Amino acid sequence: MTDWPIPSDGDQVRFLKNIQRLLNEGSFVASYKFALLHSLADLAVEFGDDSGAPLDLTIRQIAERFIRLYWQQVRPFQVAGSDSGIVLKQNTGRQADVINRIAAARVRSAGSLYRGRMDRPAWKALVSDVATTVRVMPLWKLQTVGSERLDFLYDNIETGASIMLKPGMAYCFRAFYPVLCGLFRSSWIDYLRRANARDLGYANDLQDFLFGHERASLDVYVPILRDVQRGECFYCRGHLRSSADVDHFIPWSRCHSDLAHNFVLAHRGCNSAKSDHLAFEKHLEAWAVRNADMRAELNQRFDAAAIVYDLDVSRRIASWAYAYAEQANSQVWIRDSEFKRLDGSWRAILVA
Ligand SMILES: [Zn+2]
Repeated sequence: MTDWPIPSDGDQVRFLKNIQRLLNEGSFVASYKFALLHSLADLAVEFGDDSGAPLDLTIRQIAERFIRLYWQQVRPFQVAGSDSGIVLKQNTGRQADVINRIAAARVRSAGSLYRGRMDRPAWKALVSDVATTVRVMPLWKLQTVGSERLDFLYDNIETGASIMLKPGMAYCFRAFYPVLCGLFRSSWIDYLRRANARDLGYANDLQDFLFGHERASLDVYVPILRDVQRGECFYCRGHLRSSADVDHFIPWSRCHSDLAHNFVLAHRGCNSAKSDHLAFEKHLEAWAVRNADMRAELNQRFDAAAIVYDLDVSRRIASWAYAYAEQANSQVWIRDSEFKRLDGSWRAILVA
C-alpha cells in the first residue's frame, strides 16, 4: 500500500482558496456546478478516508448524488400570495431538460425516492441521462475560471466513465465538509434567487425548501423505532410516553443524511439536550450494536415503509463525523448537560 502524505496546512489553505475562486470567478449558466461541488464533497465523506489518498469516483455515482440533491428541489415551490407552486428554474435560460426529467420521476413515484429507485428500468434511464448531463455540462468546465484552468481537484481528461480526485483532495473535502456545504448551498440559493427573481420576489424560506428536512416525513420512523427500542428512549432508556422525537443520530447540522439507520427515538428533553452534538461512545456503541443485531428486521421494516437505507454508507458517515470531531478536539454529549472529550475509542466501535 502506498502511503499518501496528509496535505500540509499550506496545501489546505490553497484548496480553500481554489474553491473560493471556482465560486467567485467561475461562470454559472446553470446550478450544475454547485450540485457537482456538493456531490464531490458528499462522496468524499461517504467513500473517502483521511489518509490523503486519491479517490476514484464514477460519473454514475456523481449522477446519483445529483438526483438526490435535486430530488427535493424540483417539487413546486409555493410563493406567498399565489395559488399554485412553481418548479424553480435551475438555469438562466429555459428549464434544463434534466431537471424536468428528475421532476417527472418524482411525480411518477409520488415523491418517494425509494419508489423511484425501485422502478429499476426508469431509474437506470434517469441516472444515465443525468450522467450524460454531468459529462457534457459541469464536469470538465468546473475548474475553468476565465481563461485559466485550475485543475486542482481532478485532471480534465474529458473522457471516460470516472474521475480521480487527486491526492489530498478527499482529505480536504472531509476536513472542511460542514463549512464547504454551507458555502455551496448559500451560493446555490443566491443563484436561484437571481435565476427566478421575477417569480420569487422576497421569498425568505428558500433555505428550508431547498436543503431542509421535512419534520413530518420523520413520522414514518416512529412506529418502527418504538418497536426496536421496546418503547424506551434511545439515550436514557427511560419509558417513552406518547410523544417522542425522531433524532438524527449524526446531527443534520453536520451532515444532511436521511438514510434510515441514522435515526433513533428519544425523549424530547434528551433530544434537545443532545442538540447538534455527537453522542458519546456508549451511545455510539448502542447505535452500532442495534444496527448490526437488528439488521434483518430493520431492513424489512424500512422496505415495508419505502424508506431509503444503506447501512454501510451510514456507518461511513458516522466514521467521518467522529474522526472530524476528534480532530477538532470536540466534546461529546452524555446526558442532560453532561459532556466529555471525545477520545479515540470510537474507532474500535465503528471499525469493528
Ligand atoms: Zn431520554
